[in-house]
Amino acid sequence: MRFIIAGNFKMNGTLAGVAAYADAVKAAEIGAALIVCPPFPLLPAFAAALPRHVGVGAQDCHARASGAHTGDVSAALLKEVGVTHVILGHSERRADHGETNADVCAKAAAAVAAGLMPIVCVGETEAQRDAGEAVEVVRTQLAHSLPDNFNGLVAYEPVWAIGTGRTPSPDDVTAMHAAIRAALVERFSATGAAMPILYGGSVKPDNAAGLLALPEVGGALVGGASLKAADFLAIAASAPTV
Ligand code: PEP
Repeated sequence: MRFIIAGNFKMNGTLAGVAAYADAVKAAEIGAALIVCPPFPLLPAFAAALPRHVGVGAQDCHARASGAHTGDVSAALLKEVGVTHVILGHSERRADHGETNADVCAKAAAAVAAGLMPIVCVGETEAQRDAGEAVEVVRTQLAHSLPDNFNGLVAYEPVWAIGTGRTPSPDDVTAMHAAIRAALVERFSATGAAMPILYGGSVKPDNAAGLLALPEVGGALVGGASLKAADFLAIAASAPTV
């Protein structure tokens, strides 16, 4: 399976910057599969500007198809404007918007039903890791954030590694990805064995090759370093060829 490199722009990016970013992606010869996840208003522009083989991801969706939910966006509408993926349960949404595992689970079910590929984020805080609870925390998040109809990607994103320049040791990434794989296989059998598990948290051009070479790391979810196309593409270029 090809490595998957997803860029989470968070609340960054401009309409004026879409064309240059898309042109840089078009010009690059990258073996990995790419997904660009800008803020909502930029989704149609990226969907139009990027080549069809590049995914376009939203950063959230609502669990319901329509209704009185001011400020929210349905999975079906995202699909209609050309979106292919949706990041769900990012730790910033869990922290800033109080999203629970149950919320994430309902959103992931809606995304799958609408034909979007969810990228469900899990990860422990520093206090939880220090207390030796990291694997158990992530197992619990997986158990309650993934719906029975789940068919998508999981991103392991230790909260303390996001935007900090710090990353877990190779052994810790390996152990966590093995635990996630075991949980996915236990729950979803063969489908779970094939679900890509991305690593996220301070992935940069200079550490990507090492992280992407670890067992059960099927790609990366990249925040800050995805804002510059050159850095995002350098990360993607460092994925092993399969
Ligand atoms: C993220 O927000 O998903 C992320 C991994 O951010 P960063 O790469 O900036 O740590």
